[in-house]
Order: sequence, then structure tokens, then C-alpha cells
Amino acid sequence: MPIIRVEDVSKTYRLGEQNVTALEGVSLTVEPGVFMAIAGPSGSGKSTLLNIMGCIDTPSKGRVEIDGKDVSGQTPDALAEVRARTIGFIFQTFNLLPVLSAEENVEYPLLQLPELSRAERRERVAHYLAMVGLSRYARHRPNQLSGGQRQRVAIARALVTHSRVVLADEPTANLDRRTGESILNLMRDINQNAGTTFVFSTHDKRVMNRADRLVRMEDGQITALGMKRDGNWIFVQDRRKPEDDPEI
Ligand code: ADP
Ligand code: MG
Repeated sequence: MPIIRVEDVSKTYRLGEQNVTALEGVSLTVEPGVFMAIAGPSGSGKSTLLNIMGCIDTPSKGRVEIDGKDVSGQTPDALAEVRARTIGFIFQTFNLLPVLSAEENVEYPLLQLPELSRAERRERVAHYLAMVGLSRYARHRPNQLSGGQRQRVAIARALVTHSRVVLADEPTANLDRRTGESILNLMRDINQNAGTTFVFSTHDKRVMNRADRLVRMEDGQITALGMKRDGNWIFVQDRRKPEDDPEI
């Protein structure tokens, strides 16, 4: 069963007098264990799609299933529960709380899980800080950390609730190339070792090439779906125009 299924989803925003169509008839399934890139130019709908997949935003039309459950009929509390226990988020600008230390930032989402004791929370936080290589920086505040270190804190925070799927919106866009690569390597290692599913958006070709599933977006629609086999992309759906990038 897919972890996330998006079925014929459209999203229209009202902007003053105008309607802006951010997504139009998007259908997508995310199978457990994939390392999926959503690629497309700025404004193509990547963030809107990730937000809808993560139940931070709701579609104007269509349905979203998380773990086989339709989320559209659920109350805000039930949705918050789904988010807290199933989905982790990583953002381009890290979105850490500036007044909290690295370990407090990682602990933060655990405060929503009442079954965990203080000792269990501490143990989990220590485990995930170690996983991202930041044990020595536990007491540092975000402004005492580099961009790459901040994104590592965000990765630990996304995983600490034992999320099954991590949604990352342009996680490397604010990092230099080498740091971005190390963040991507870390995500890939966690994907392969722990089986955590990752869906990340990007417009960087090097980043999309690291994925094993590729979703191409253009003007709010999916124009191609790719799967990597023996290092080569195979496209199962391809509605790209000839002038689009021929490679991937
Ligand atoms: P991407 O992440 O690929 O850059 P977005 O999903 O952010 O694309 O945006 C898709 C389209 O929807 C764009 O035209 C954008 O301007 C519009 N849009 C996104 N969010 C809003 C909003 N809250 N209000 C109005 N328009 C929006
Ligand atoms: Mg975006």
C-alpha cells in the first residue's frame, strides 16, 4: 500500500480578484522506501504539492490518502495526529526555533506525543542528533550553527517522531554545493538504512539525479514520471515538450 496517494488534486488560490491555479489534476502515489524528487521550475507547484501531501494545506478538489486513509474528512486534531506520527518536514530555510538549542529543537515535536516520558524523549533526541553527526552541538542555538548543521538539526527533528515519510522542500537550495551534497548523502543513507521514505523538491539537476523516482512538474501539472533502473531513467509518463530538457 502506498504511504501517500494523491488523486486528481487541484488547488486554486484566491489572490485579490484573481484565482491562481497552483495544481491541476495531479495524481501521484508514493510507495514505501522510495527516494523521490519533485523537479520543476519556480512556480510549477512543487511546494503546494508537498504541503498537500503533508496535510499542511488542503486541496480545492481531489483526494489525499495517507497510509490508505482518506484525510479529507478528518478533523484538524486528527490531521495533526497523522502529521505528528507519520510525516516529517524539512524546509529550504531550516525553520528552526531560534531561542531553542539544537537538542530542544529536535525534542520539540516529541512534546506532542504524550506517551513518551522525559527520559525516553532525551534518549531519542540523543540518538537522532548522533545520527546526523551533531552530538557535540546539542547545546548550540541555530545562530551558532552553520547552514549545513542547521539542516542536519532539521533532519533529526523530522525523524525523531519515527516518521515514515519525510517531505523536504528544496532542502539544499540555501546551502553551498558541497554542504548540499552531504545533506543529500545523509538523507540517502537514512533512506537506505532505516527505510524512511523521502520526497524532496528541487530544481537542481544534480540533486534530482540522486533520486530513484522523479516527478517532473510544469504549470501545476505532472509532465513526466521517471524511475531509475541500473542508473538510467525510464519514463513511464512523458508529456514534456521537445524544447524541454531532453536529459531527465
Ligand atoms: P514552486 O514551489 O514550484 O515554486 P508553488 O507551489 O510555491 O511553486 O506555487 C505554485 C503557484 O501557486 C505559483 O503561481 C504561486 O504564485 C501560486 N501560489 C502558491 N502559494 C500561494 C498562495 N498562498 N496564494 C496565492 N498564490 C499562491
Ligand atoms: Mg517552492
